[in-house]
Amino acid sequence: MSPRDELTGLTATAARRGLDTNEFSATELTEAYLDRIGRLDDDLGSYLHVMADVARTQAAAADRRIADGDAAPFTGIPVALKDVLCTVDAPTTAASRILEGFRPPCDATVVRRLREQGAVFLGKANTDEFAMGSSNENSAFKPVRNPWDRDHVPGGSSGGPAAAVAAGLAAVSLGSDTGGSIRQPAGFCGVVGLKPTYGRVSRFGLLAFASSLDQIGPFARTVEDAAMTLQAIAGHDPLDSTSSPLPLPDFRAALSGDIAGMKIGVAKEYTVDGMEPGVAAAVDAAIRRLAELGADIVDVELPHTKYALPTYYITAPAEASANLARYDGVKYGLAVEAPTLRETYERTRGEGFGAEVKRRIMLGTYALSSGYYDAYYVKAQKVRTLIRQDFDEAWERVDAIVAPTSPTVAFPLGARTDDPYQMYLADVFTIPANMAGIPGVAVPCGFSDGLPVSLQILGPSFAEATILRIAHAYERSEPWSSRQPELMASN
Ligand code: GLN
Repeated sequence: MSPRDELTGLTATAARRGLDTNEFSATELTEAYLDRIGRLDDDLGSYLHVMADVARTQAAAADRRIADGDAAPFTGIPVALKDVLCTVDAPTTAASRILEGFRPPCDATVVRRLREQGAVFLGKANTDEFAMGSSNENSAFKPVRNPWDRDHVPGGSSGGPAAAVAAGLAAVSLGSDTGGSIRQPAGFCGVVGLKPTYGRVSRFGLLAFASSLDQIGPFARTVEDAAMTLQAIAGHDPLDSTSSPLPLPDFRAALSGDIAGMKIGVAKEYTVDGMEPGVAAAVDAAIRRLAELGADIVDVELPHTKYALPTYYITAPAEASANLARYDGVKYGLAVEAPTLRETYERTRGEGFGAEVKRRIMLGTYALSSGYYDAYYVKAQKVRTLIRQDFDEAWERVDAIVAPTSPTVAFPLGARTDDPYQMYLADVFTIPANMAGIPGVAVPCGFSDGLPVSLQILGPSFAEATILRIAHAYERSEPWSSRQPELMASN
């Protein structure tokens, strides 16, 4: 292992200490990451755009800030940003041809907050087109390979941010989770992924997929790094009216290591046909470990769980069909010229959107059309309330609920591309939290066939501190996340 790989192997928290004690500079840390990205990412595909010049300028500024004794938690920390987050100094494409080359006029609020803290932006990370997918294979530009086994998918839609953190190509990263797109790829890549409560993090400057479900959150190698990142990006934003005015707790201070006496629910609804035995075994072992740590394991019922997937696939496409109407060749990105305005719209959208995005627009337009609106969209909203009520009742009895993050480990590239339904099933355990608006964290809990398995911890709205505390206590007793994929050591 070269010294550079030692730097890129550090957690963000350890990098912070190293920067503050002048063990290394932000410039050295950034160069180590850029060098590693240069060596490994042609193969992995986790970045769509590497921001080398921006990163070097930011690193130099961070070094000055550290020398002045003015460092914030993210000063000099190298970060990857999912390419659905607007950045003024890099293209933002949502991995879609329709936005190829698009330069946003402003930063997303989460980007601005990290920038103000002096973070270093390594680049824009790959994703399924407009965050629609579970394997990153819907990216219009290239797939991402799983760092644990390059013939397998990294999960999606935030496959790039997940793979980058797992492979040591970013210290932490930001993704978005509409139906599982942070937790599921975090699970497939063996890193920590947190979907905050709907409203905890501003969505301003996030290219919208389904506005009532989308939420931005961190990928990290440890729970502590995830807590530190959430702290930096969360909080009220006047530019997002759905962002919550609630004060932020100190998320890192909540990581006490003590979960004795906490009540943790387990729901039988979180087992499905086709669940891999290796996943079930690892998750069962993790639950036993939580009991050994003093938690009280309690059975809970979430009877409407089985309706979450079908209601999501009405709600999310419906909102997507409205949100994506703006890409018509007039204001943003691709414009295919044609004799009439109508043909310009048709050809721009026809050539600019990929197959899955078109499928969602058609599903959503159908669900919203007159005659079907009540039967589909309104009905789905009613069922959504029932799903939320299941959780509300459970919170009267437990502090958190644990479940597998996904029913399987990462599947081979190409295995599900011909069968959208199989692809959609990859999110069967993550979607209920989005429908209910509650937070969830995915934490590594073992391996099956050499690929990472992940435990999902769900909590009541705005109880991120609680689920992070449980995840951290578990991680300390079972440090799966300290295992690194082979390429970390051998390249
Ligand atoms: N896989 C789900 C979908 O395709 C979730 C995506 C997401 O969370 N962005 O819609």
